[in-house]
Amino acid sequence: MLRLNKAHYPVTTLGYGKRIGVWFQGCSIHCKDCVSMDTWEPNGGADIAVPALMDWCKAKAAAGGVDGVTFSGGEPFDQPQALNAVLDGLLRWKKRARLSLDLLCYSGYPLKILQARHAGLLRKLDALIPEPYAEHLPEGGLWRGSANQPLITLSPLGAQRYADKDGMAASKRMQLAVEEGKVWMIGIPGREDMARLEALCAARGLDFNQVSWRR
Ligand code: SF4
Repeated sequence: MLRLNKAHYPVTTLGYGKRIGVWFQGCSIHCKDCVSMDTWEPNGGADIAVPALMDWCKAKAAAGGVDGVTFSGGEPFDQPQALNAVLDGLLRWKKRARLSLDLLCYSGYPLKILQARHAGLLRKLDALIPEPYAEHLPEGGLWRGSANQPLITLSPLGAQRYADKDGMAASKRMQLAVEEGKVWMIGIPGREDMARLEALCAARGLDFNQVSWRR
């Protein structure tokens, strides 16, 4: 069972190509200025059985194709057993269906801690973006929030898709999705982007009464 914040498809702003996004619910790290505070509460979101999540992924892939899966949240490594079960399911599917599917995971834990505690999980990933978001450091490159967060490749496919993409900050994009009566923003915003968006909307008479970037 996985505690899920939201599964998204298609995701085009967090990794290579057209992707599935799996946002874990619950984050114990609480980085200052996190834009996803809605994912912090471990009892938020909803439980989903891993086979049900796999069925959802397969249906999305059959309908529109998929190049990879991005895990974020929330903190995927706060649910290591669930992450392991999803990775195993995806790797089985990838092998059976002969898909060229890369698995990219975000984490706010330092790389050294992940290597010490979760080496088995890292072996199942193609790429990893670890380390906590640091609001006092410069922005990170493409797909990364702050400059301390490296994009680490963990497989030949990961290297092929991600090795030369680290410095492309100019290509950062955000995606909007409207589902379940909510507006979901997918991607890594630039500094002050959310404040600018709020100011622009307010100037047109649209106020946000519940947002994920402050409590
Ligand atoms: S940036 Fe990521 S790791 Fe940091 S508090 Fe937000 S969800 Fe957690």
